[in-house]
Amino acid sequence: MHVQDPPYRFKCGRALPANPKLLEDELEARVSQNRPRIYRDLKSLIVRVPDLQSSKLADALQAADQYPFRITSFYLDRVLNGRADDPLLDVVLPTSQEGLVQPETWDANQLADGRALDSPLWSQKYPQQGLIRLTTECSAHCRYCYLRERTAQRRPASKEEIAGIFRGLAHDRARDIREVILSGGDPLMVTPAVLQYLGGCFRLCNEERASRGAQEIRLNVHTREPVWRPDYYLSEWSRYMPAFSALGAYAYVLQVIHPRELTPEFEELLRRISDCGEQRPLLLNQHPLLKGVNADADVLAELYARLTDCNPRIKPYYAVHPFDSGTLPKHRLSLPESQTLMQELTHKLPGTMLPTLVVPTPLGKAYVLPYQRLVPGSAPGRWHLLTKTGVEVDYLDPGLTGCT
Ligand code: SF4
Repeated sequence: MHVQDPPYRFKCGRALPANPKLLEDELEARVSQNRPRIYRDLKSLIVRVPDLQSSKLADALQAADQYPFRITSFYLDRVLNGRADDPLLDVVLPTSQEGLVQPETWDANQLADGRALDSPLWSQKYPQQGLIRLTTECSAHCRYCYLRERTAQRRPASKEEIAGIFRGLAHDRARDIREVILSGGDPLMVTPAVLQYLGGCFRLCNEERASRGAQEIRLNVHTREPVWRPDYYLSEWSRYMPAFSALGAYAYVLQVIHPRELTPEFEELLRRISDCGEQRPLLLNQHPLLKGVNADADVLAELYARLTDCNPRIKPYYAVHPFDSGTLPKHRLSLPESQTLMQELTHKLPGTMLPTLVVPTPLGKAYVLPYQRLVPGSAPGRWHLLTKTGVEVDYLDPGLTGCT
C-alpha cells in the first residue's frame, strides 16, 4: 500500500501510520483480545487488507464522513478473505458512490386508511401485515442499505413503546393483522431483556386476541446479525437463549448475500435458535442482487445449495432487484439482467432451491418470473409491472437509468 503525502487522516484526526509495524501491533492486540467487537475506524480494515489500493482507501476515508464505517470483528476476520480484490469489501467499504443514490424514503407508501396502529415505530403497507422498527441500529453498515441515514443513528424502542404496540395489536382495530415483522435496523440489536419482554407482550396480545375471536398473529424476525457477529450471540448464549425462546418467532428471515457469509458459527447459532423455542421457526433467506458481488449464477447457485444444506435448512426466499435509494450505481443490474440470472439458475437448481425475483417498486413489491415477458413502460428505462397486490406500476429501472 502506498501512503501519500500529506498522510490520510482518520476521523479521529490520527494519520494512517507510515510504519506497517504499527498495524501489525494492532492486529496482534486484536487477535489476543479474541472477543467479539465492533470497529468504527477504517484502520481495522487496513490491517486486515494490507494491499488495499490507496485510491480506494482515500475514497473510503472521505465517504465515511457521510455514512460512517462500521464492521464487526467476526466479519473482518472470518468472512473477508484479506485480499484487495475481495468482492465482499464492497459490502463494508465506504465509497463516494453513496452520494449518487436517491435519498432514503423511510417507510414510504404506507396504507392511507385502515392502519392498525398509530405508533411511529409501526409501518404498515398491507392490511394483514405490519412492521415494528425495534431499533435503528445495526452492528455493521452495509453500503447498499436503503435506510443508511437511520441505521447510522441509535434509536431503540422503549419497553413502554413495545407494550403500547402489542396492546394496540390486541384490539379490534388490528383484527385483520396476521403477521408482524420485527425489523430495524436489526431487531436483534436490542438487549436480550427487551427481546424477552417483547415475547411476553406478544404472547399476552395473542391470548387477548383469542378471547375476542381474532386470529393469532405470527411474528417474523428480519435479521443479518447471524452473519455479522454470530460469535457474539454464541458467547452470550445463556442470556439470549431465554430471549429467543420467549420470542416464539414463527419465522426468521435472514440476509445472507454470499456463500462465504455462511460460516460454521452462523449455522451453529441458527441451530440453537431453532432448537430453543416450543416450535421450530421457519428459516428463510432474502438478499439483494449486487453486480460485482453476488450477481453471478455460479455464486448464487453455491449460496442456495449451501443454504438448503445447512442444519437447520434455510429456504432461499427472495432475490431482490436493485433499489434506487440504496444500491450503489456500480452494483445495479437492469431488470432483464436480473431476470437472465434467474433463468440461468433455473437450469442449475431445482425449484425448491430457488428464490423469487422481487422488484421493489414505489407502489409495492412486484414478483417477476424467470420467463415472464417484460412489458416496456411509458419511456425507455421503464417497465410495466404489477405489484403483488395487482397495482399497475410504470417502473423506472435503476439498472437502466445510470446514476441518479
Ligand atoms: S443489515 Fe439491513 S438495515 Fe442494517 S445496514 Fe445492512 S441493509 Fe441496512
